[in-house]
Amino acid sequence: MPELPEVETIRRQLDPLVTGAVIVAADSHWSDKFTPALDAVGATITGINRRGKYLLFQLDDDGDDESDDGYDDGYELVAHLGMTGSFHLEPGSGSDPSCADHGKHTRAVWAFDDGRHLVFDDTRRFGRLRVVPTGVYNDIATLHHMGPEPLDGEFTGASLHKAIVGKSRSIKTQLLSQRPVAGVGNIYADEALFLAGIDPRARRVGRERCDRLAETVKQVLAAGIDNGGTTLRDYVNAEGDIGRNQHSLLVYGRGGEPCTLCAEPLSTVVIDARTTTFCKNCQNR
Ligand SMILES: [Zn+2]
Repeated sequence: MPELPEVETIRRQLDPLVTGAVIVAADSHWSDKFTPALDAVGATITGINRRGKYLLFQLDDDGDDESDDGYDDGYELVAHLGMTGSFHLEPGSGSDPSCADHGKHTRAVWAFDDGRHLVFDDTRRFGRLRVVPTGVYNDIATLHHMGPEPLDGEFTGASLHKAIVGKSRSIKTQLLSQRPVAGVGNIYADEALFLAGIDPRARRVGRERCDRLAETVKQVLAAGIDNGGTTLRDYVNAEGDIGRNQHSLLVYGRGGEPCTLCAEPLSTVVIDARTTTFCKNCQNR
C-alpha cells in the first residue's frame, strides 16, 4: 500500500503537469467509490496538496458567491490510492473519455481542455475518490481525525507522547491509526520502530522513547521520499517508474533474515492483520 513517501512522490510529479488544466469531461467505474470523479467536471485544477496518504487536487470555485453550493472557497478532489491505486497522464486522447478505452483496471478518467487524459487505475479497488468543499472532511473519518504531518515541524516527541499516553493499544497499532502522526503505514512503521529500538507490541512508550521514535519516523519517511518511494509489488510513480527505497529497508519483509545490528534472525508477528517484522534482541517492549 502506498504510504506517505509514495504518495508525496506522485504529488511532486503530477502537480506541475496538471496545474492549470481544465477538466472538461470525466468517466468512472460504476462503484460509488469512484463515481465522485464526475463531480470535478468544469473545474480548473489549481494544484495538488497532500495530507498523510491522501492526494488533494485543488479545484477552483465556480465564481458564483451567490449560490449556496458550499464550494465558494473552492473544492477538492480527494484521492486515496488504497492498495493498488495509481495515476498517470496520457497525451492527446480527446474530450470524450471512457474508462473502457484505457486499461482493464481503469476506475476513473478525466479529460483536460488540452486533450490530455488523467487516468486512475486501481486493480484491487480499495482506492477511493471524493469531491468535497476545501478542508471539509467530516465524511472522511481517517482524514478528519488525522494527526500532524510528520515533516512540517508540528510532529514532535511531545506531540507523539500526548497522542498515545494512556491508550492500551500497541505502539504499532497506534502509528497505523494515523492519529498520532499522518502517513505512516506498515513499511515505515516497522522501519521507524526498529531504528528507535522499540518493540512494535509495546503498550507503554514513555516520553524519552517517543522523542526517539518521532525522530526515526521523520528519518525513514524523508529517506523514502528521497528514494522516490518503496516498490514492493504494485507501486509505480506517476511516470511509471518504480521507487528505490526497497533497497534501504532494514526489517520490513526480512523476517528470518539476520538483523543488521546483532545478526540474530528477525522475528515476525501479526498485528492488525499486518505482518510485522522486528528484532527481539534490539527492540524492547
Ligand atoms: Zn538485532
